[in-house]
Amino acid sequence: MADLTLSTDTVPDVAEDGVWLTCIECGEAYPPFEDVIYECAECGGLLEARYDEYATFEDFDGEGVWRYADALPVSGSVTIDEGNTPLYEAPGIAADVDVADLRVKHEGMNPTGSFKDRGMTVGVRVAERLGVDRLVCASTGNTSAALAAYGARSNLETLVLLPAGKVAAGKLAQASLHGATILEVDGNFDDCLDIVAELANMGEAYLLNSLNPFRLEGQKTIGLEMLEQFEADTGDWPDRIVLPVGNAGNTAALHKAFRELVEAGAMDDEEVPALTGVQAEGAAPMVEAIENDYEAVRGWDDVETRATAIRIGKPVNAPKALPAIRETGGTAVAVSDDEITDAQRALAEDGIGVEPASAASVAGLRKLRDEGVVADDEQVVCLTTGHLLKDPDAAAAAGSEPTQVPNDVDGVLDVL
Ligand SMILES: *Cc1c(COP(=O)(O)O)cnc(C)c1O
Ligand SMILES: [Zn+2]
Repeated sequence: MADLTLSTDTVPDVAEDGVWLTCIECGEAYPPFEDVIYECAECGGLLEARYDEYATFEDFDGEGVWRYADALPVSGSVTIDEGNTPLYEAPGIAADVDVADLRVKHEGMNPTGSFKDRGMTVGVRVAERLGVDRLVCASTGNTSAALAAYGARSNLETLVLLPAGKVAAGKLAQASLHGATILEVDGNFDDCLDIVAELANMGEAYLLNSLNPFRLEGQKTIGLEMLEQFEADTGDWPDRIVLPVGNAGNTAALHKAFRELVEAGAMDDEEVPALTGVQAEGAAPMVEAIENDYEAVRGWDDVETRATAIRIGKPVNAPKALPAIRETGGTAVAVSDDEITDAQRALAEDGIGVEPASAASVAGLRKLRDEGVVADDEQVVCLTTGHLLKDPDAAAAAGSEPTQVPNDVDGVLDVL
């Protein structure tokens, strides 16, 4: 079982600017900015950034991701004003699910329309510091859109591998216009990731999938920002966070944000919100592992769902995310594509436009309320991860058909 204990008691010699990387499986420490590494050289375990000191709320200043600079591994930034996303009330959904408080944290309001920007502003800055000249990622779409934008911003060559025919139109258009080299692979996301991981290990390019521990450092800021906003609105912190799960990077990153606050003495263990992951039924290996109490996720070879952003069978951050869910008293649930589309419509009726994967959070909350798993006195935040315009085809299919009318007022009046 992974060891996710943060401790500032012993700072290894390899630390630089108070930052180092640690293997969550065997504890081996690595220098953060010397060599390019993505996993433990000793045991292949996932790496995590550690600090000689953890930041508290008093240290935060400014707006957006870089408000949390004291909790991040690099200073300076490649920024296009990511973060500072709205925490919406959603009256229709709130009335439907009937919990003490319901908010929607809409990460689709980031510069390229997904939370991936929070990871890239940090990850691409680290890439600059490491002195690499080519960036690469595998993507179901949003990672490639974000990497293309941040790569362009820092004048680095950007290569993206996508599963052919499985990427939503908006995302492909973004990667294309921001100037990435786009390669479509005859395979699924997991196949693309295997290829880019090998390219990265050969030194051909710097990998910015969520296997990269620095990207998750940027994504921690979702949790920090959400706590501050929720407290400003309600005077309290949320009891539960419901989020869609693909590679489980956000699940791991939110957990890390809260563990760091606990380590810094800014939050009690019992105050950490219950992390609740939602997957599509056709791509639900994390849910299977939670339900069956598996020690490790068993990857699925064949996955399918309308929510293409979470069409992932081998969630790379599972060794971090399983403890994240278990240690916070959370759970995981699978929802059908039709439940996802219903939730997408419900969000739209509250004026909140999201892509299908994002709506999985609301679909999951509805299901967990029906099953009595989420209690009516809970304060809940649903995370919506990407903007409606990312997947215009899914939005149009979920919405109503236009009506054809003749070119005159009477023709219009006839249908009113
Ligand atoms: C990347 C992505 C996800 C999956 O997030 P993980 O951190 O990989 O679990 C969910 N929704 C959208 C819209 C995404 O782009
Ligand atoms: Zn190791």
